[in-house]
Amino acid sequence: MRKQSYRHSNQPTRKLVVLGAGESGVGAAQLGLQNGWDVFVSDYGVIKDEFQDDLRRMNLPFEQKQHTEDRILAADVVVKSPGIPEKAPIIKKIRAADIPIISEIEWGYQFVDHGQIIAITGSNGKTTTTSLIGHMMNTAGLDAAVGGNIGTSFAKIIANGMSTAKRKAGAPDYYVLEISSFQLDEITDFKPEIAILLNITPDHLDRYEYNVEYYAKAKLKITENQTAADHFIYNNQDEITQRLLNKKTVKASRIEVFGDSLESNMVTIGDFSFTENDLTIKGPHNLFNATCAVQVMKLLGINNELILKGLATFQNVPHRLENVRKCNGIEYINDSKATNVDAVYNALKAMTKPVIWVVGGTDKGNEYESMFEVVEEKVKAIVCLGVDNTKILEAFSTMIKIIEETSSAQEAVLVATKYADPGDVVLLSPACASFDRFKNYEDRGDQFKEAVMNLKNIEE
Ligand code: ADP
Repeated sequence: MRKQSYRHSNQPTRKLVVLGAGESGVGAAQLGLQNGWDVFVSDYGVIKDEFQDDLRRMNLPFEQKQHTEDRILAADVVVKSPGIPEKAPIIKKIRAADIPIISEIEWGYQFVDHGQIIAITGSNGKTTTTSLIGHMMNTAGLDAAVGGNIGTSFAKIIANGMSTAKRKAGAPDYYVLEISSFQLDEITDFKPEIAILLNITPDHLDRYEYNVEYYAKAKLKITENQTAADHFIYNNQDEITQRLLNKKTVKASRIEVFGDSLESNMVTIGDFSFTENDLTIKGPHNLFNATCAVQVMKLLGINNELILKGLATFQNVPHRLENVRKCNGIEYINDSKATNVDAVYNALKAMTKPVIWVVGGTDKGNEYESMFEVVEEKVKAIVCLGVDNTKILEAFSTMIKIIEETSSAQEAVLVATKYADPGDVVLLSPACASFDRFKNYEDRGDQFKEAVMNLKNIEE
């Protein structure tokens, strides 16, 4: 039986305030409206046109570039966008007024009557693993809606009844959800039937008082409400996860997946075995992601043939070790989504040819020591793409002879190409956020790809 604290009310109308009008905020507002709540949406920034249009179409009252405190502090519950930090003045006031603040996934959860939840969190690999699981389930004929922190928000999936089954519109049988640690911060009842914690590596520490334990604890909340009937899949090679699990009991049935030790070996789960050759995604980290996905398929009782078919037909989302083009014998790979050191470490590990590494952007407190060995082994030249590359230059200039700074994706591609020989790889894997030069990581990846596509292939 689901525990639902906010859904049923003995008051005729309750007030919902949604802070932040992005994909998840608009979904939360829509769901509130559908369920008879008096909804008000407030965003301190400018609301994107498409979301303003959505709000207007639904006749939902909203404000932007301000927070009207009287209205916000009259709320019975506040749904907060994951982007708003705890230290924001309005959050402090809501807390002082003792009004509950929940995240959009919690809000969505309150309205789920039908369907099981498979929730995926971690520092790296969430989108890949979530998309892979969704794809494999749908390939096997299950009715799985995919969303959360990617694509459609959980609340919007519920509001729109996005069953993928042809039989009818309505609630799907499964929700496959990518969940960020920010979304987990504000849950009360949210309980997935299957939870996956891929890994915990330092990221977003600015939001957790630079304390990795706080960040890690938020991630472990994914299993907090699970019972013995539920499953918790985790990486038994992940140091921080292990440390936390030693301190905290998990009620769900645990399933360990081997992390680093996988390398490129064969993985066996029950009567099913596979290797990296059965996958469309490469590298030990992706073998790990796929192992988690296969574990889910086994829990759902999917047969081996369909599991293999799902693995073999998966197309990864762009900007994650995406093969762009081979030109004059040089391979170009776009891994723009690699915005932290661990993701780049794995990208480099997955490379089998000498690498011209395009790196840099807005630093997020990176420590590069853990990468020294892999950089020494794989990297031939470094091309910096950030505005301020000091930390990269300091970390690698004694180790790598060729390091050059550039000021656009186009220049970076040209300089990288200059240092590359046929048989080498040019890898954009920045280890940093993109905001110093680009709108976002997609923009960075797209500009990189465009520059690569503009290169002249002398063999053509
Ligand atoms: P997320 O959604 O968690 O950001 P993505 O699937 O978008 O994860 O991948 C982000 C980056 O992390 C990519 O560069 C990818 O190559 C790398 N990556 C993917 N899976 C893993 C993993 N299990 N461990 C470490 N890095 C990974």
